[in-house]
Amino acid sequence: MYRVTVESDFSAAHRIREYGGDCENLHGHNFRVFLSVSSKELPPSGMCVDFRDLKKVLGEVLETLDHKDINRLEYFRDVNPTSENIARYIFESVRKKGAPVSEVTVFETDSCSASYSEE
Ligand SMILES: [Zn+2]
Repeated sequence: MYRVTVESDFSAAHRIREYGGDCENLHGHNFRVFLSVSSKELPPSGMCVDFRDLKKVLGEVLETLDHKDINRLEYFRDVNPTSENIARYIFESVRKKGAPVSEVTVFETDSCSASYSEE
């Protein structure tokens, strides 16, 4: 299996609902995002996907989150804006743009991350 990954980041605020702790208060993170595409085989070019194309799509999706209060976005009106659900939002948004994606990982801090994939 081949796997390619691009990395990017965004800064945003969120408030975790029904958490019962400090994270219920509005606070911010510098989120780091890893977007991966897996493929069992390679085309003649030897590339699963062009890194530049992948970074462009990821950049467009992260623009919808950057410097935002995530709770106020339509998608997160009824969905708790945890790192898990942010990973799913990015995954679905990338796919909606017609780009390949196998897994999205969102780091909320240097040592805490959540991933979403459909496998
Ligand atoms: Zn947080």
